[in-house]
Amino acid sequence: MAKRPFASLEKIREIAEIHPTPFHIYDEAGIRKTARDLLSAFSWNKGFKEFFAVKALPNPVILNILKEEGCGVDCSSYTELLLAKAVGFKGSEVMFSSNVTPKEDYLLARELGAYINLDDASDADIVTDLFPLPKTMCLRYNPGGTFAIGNTIMDNPQDAKYGMTEEQMVEAIKKLMGRGVKHFGIHAFLSSNTLTDYYYPILAEMMFLLAVRVKKATGADISFINLSGGIGIPYMPEDEKVDIFHVGRKVKEAYESILVPEGMEPSIFAELGRFMTGPHGALVTRVVHEKKIYKDYLGVDACAADLMRPAMYGAYHHITVLGKEDEAPANKYDVTGGLCENNDKFAIDRMLPKTEIGDLLFIHDTGAHGFSMGYNYNGKLRSAEILLKEDGSFRLIRRAETPDDYFSTLDILCGEY
Ligand SMILES: *Cc1c(COP(=O)(O)O)cnc(C)c1O
Repeated sequence: MAKRPFASLEKIREIAEIHPTPFHIYDEAGIRKTARDLLSAFSWNKGFKEFFAVKALPNPVILNILKEEGCGVDCSSYTELLLAKAVGFKGSEVMFSSNVTPKEDYLLARELGAYINLDDASDADIVTDLFPLPKTMCLRYNPGGTFAIGNTIMDNPQDAKYGMTEEQMVEAIKKLMGRGVKHFGIHAFLSSNTLTDYYYPILAEMMFLLAVRVKKATGADISFINLSGGIGIPYMPEDEKVDIFHVGRKVKEAYESILVPEGMEPSIFAELGRFMTGPHGALVTRVVHEKKIYKDYLGVDACAADLMRPAMYGAYHHITVLGKEDEAPANKYDVTGGLCENNDKFAIDRMLPKTEIGDLLFIHDTGAHGFSMGYNYNGKLRSAEILLKEDGSFRLIRRAETPDDYFSTLDILCGEY
């Protein structure tokens, strides 16, 4: 399927006149629609809640849009909790799914009344020493072995640092019950960026069976099952979008066949990040240089510091040359940023229409794990973020960094240099 930008060349030109490239731009209408579709797909479950994974797109304006749509937030650090608090999330709207967790983070999570998701059995003792335990707590599961869907191995939980074994979970729950905890959630995140409609249903089945066993072993009330993140998005033009309604129906079937006969009716929770906002963001960058040596290079004003996924994972991000949407690919290019790192390439051997200096490139699907993975290597400054509103107007929702921002943590050396 052809990938079309959610904004036209005219609109992007209008924005770029005021806010110079590079910038990430987010499509409010798309984010709202995806949130509504997800909630509707799981509306059969009374307590269903999506806790948006803040790390995917940590901007308060975006978090507020998701809040308006009825989503909560999933945080995993002190500053993510502060951000959630600033937007007004509290209590059961906040999930705290962390690992290797500093005490201050637990204390802030507790202060906000967040659900606390324990990554390890030893964390049960750590939190017991910190505060009176909340009535409800969550525990993260690691089944070990490999996680397969049909004949396809999706991931290797045995090599993942997250979660605890079933035996540890049972012991931790007994311990926590003895300390007054009344309700429990169980959580697992076993595979990232899955494009099959079967990831959530198969994970759900596994978690529902676990819930039944844990309940039998401990007598605990399992009040929610957190299926976490991991639903993917079509980065490549030939990828197919996950049918979230189909996913919802399949999870419902597993729920009705496994939990209902046991008299269990837990809420289903999700912590989707990529699925919620990934397709609704783009990195807009201008071609500023062209170079022909052994290959043809287009140099752009963004770099891997604005979008790390291609350099880090070799990830594919589709690129549209704005205004040339319908022109045939004519040249093979490497699209590069200016870092002194040869992996600073948004695309390698990519066929694009004939492209010139000054052209605007729309790098698709940067709405999750895009801006948020940015960094300052080579003294590169982080870009701005812009919201394209439903009525077609736009708003700067984070300004670009300036050299002052970059040097601000050297204030301790004041006057020396
Ligand atoms: C990263 C993360 C998510 C979100 O993952 P996506 O792949 O963006 O859906 C959810 N929960 C936890 C605990 C995470 O670490």
